[in-house]
Amino acid sequence: QSVFSKVNKGAAIEVFALIRACAKDTSPSKADLSAGTYRTNEGKPWVLPVVRKTEIKITSDETINHEYLPVLGNDAFTKAATGLLLGDNSSAIADKRAFGIQTLSGTGALRIGAQFLRVILDRRVAYYSNPTWENHHKVFADAGFETLRSYRYWDQEKRTIDFEGLLADLDAAPEGAVIILHACAHNPTGCDPTQEQWKQIADLMERKKLFPFLDSAYQGFASGDPEKDAWAVRYFVERGFELFVAQSFAKNFGLYCERVGNLTVVQRNAASSEAVASQFTWLVRGMYSNPPAFGSRIVATVLNNPELRKEWMECIKTMSGRIIKMRKALFDRLTELQTPGTWDHIVSQIGMFSYTGLNEKQVRVLIDDFHVYLLKSGRINMCGLNENNVDYVAQAIHTAVTK
Ligand code: PMP
Repeated sequence: QSVFSKVNKGAAIEVFALIRACAKDTSPSKADLSAGTYRTNEGKPWVLPVVRKTEIKITSDETINHEYLPVLGNDAFTKAATGLLLGDNSSAIADKRAFGIQTLSGTGALRIGAQFLRVILDRRVAYYSNPTWENHHKVFADAGFETLRSYRYWDQEKRTIDFEGLLADLDAAPEGAVIILHACAHNPTGCDPTQEQWKQIADLMERKKLFPFLDSAYQGFASGDPEKDAWAVRYFVERGFELFVAQSFAKNFGLYCERVGNLTVVQRNAASSEAVASQFTWLVRGMYSNPPAFGSRIVATVLNNPELRKEWMECIKTMSGRIIKMRKALFDRLTELQTPGTWDHIVSQIGMFSYTGLNEKQVRVLIDDFHVYLLKSGRINMCGLNENNVDYVAQAIHTAVTK
């Protein structure tokens, strides 16, 4: 008998199952609103022109070889990434209290950060928002967190943040608990705390001695301005928190498969840096030894060159601008159709996703009758919309809602 014969088949991962189902669907009017990737108005993936130009330069550079990177990654990249996040004039960087570790995209940053918290700092309790990116639970559970709880985040009725609930749940968290916060463009709701609300969250976390782990997967992609999107992170750092930030360059550079990420570590004193970095070195050594180079070279080259950086800023404006345009287009169509319910949240939410408020039954109708694919939570990727399909999708939503 095979040693594998008793292996049970695991559940399908919803988003990948939907992408596959949509790819197989032969309907000419199908629309994939499930995947979390940018699409052009033609419905195609987009290699940012500045990324294309830079990768060609890198691959034709005879001085570049394929030697291993250091365990904690490409220094030019981690410095640029940390600077982008905290601001190039950040006092935490100047004081050498902050440093970066190159990771396997945002997921890898979360995982290595969680592993450090669990193994080195003996943290056992983590909280994530309800709802959140569905992988937060698994990443922290796999890192050995024994108690994973959610804090209230979303008021389905009002389609806004349940701020009272959020504060109450964080207030009940035990001292030292790790709190995962979305730095901007909350996935899946597209609804971020206001600056006033962030201040209240920080007050509470300071009082309760909770550890902030910010997840920054969409810097620049949300508002079109990386400075603006980093506000919450920088605010926490200015307040003197010790924290981790997981950074992904999947969306804002369109480097999804290259797995380019950074874990920024901010400490109270520079004195602990060497010890902390050495423990990360051992954790990485045991997991994958050292990170891949190519994507980090692209990001480092672009961010460290003022001309290229400017071109990149134009690219993120293009992407965020198209999303905002599609929000307005969908909102206008639903309003014209007089689709029952309120749809203001479609334009007020930010980032790639919109939490439509559609229920599971309505989602089923969209998929089965209209070939419009979205998560059963009602989350849609605005980039899946374009000028050619927005009428069709709006009509489909209208029918699902009025059916
Ligand atoms: N956090 C959030 C909230 C995300 O939405 C994503 C991407 N879907 C990630 C982290 C990580 O993505 P990646 O590992 O591709 O950088």
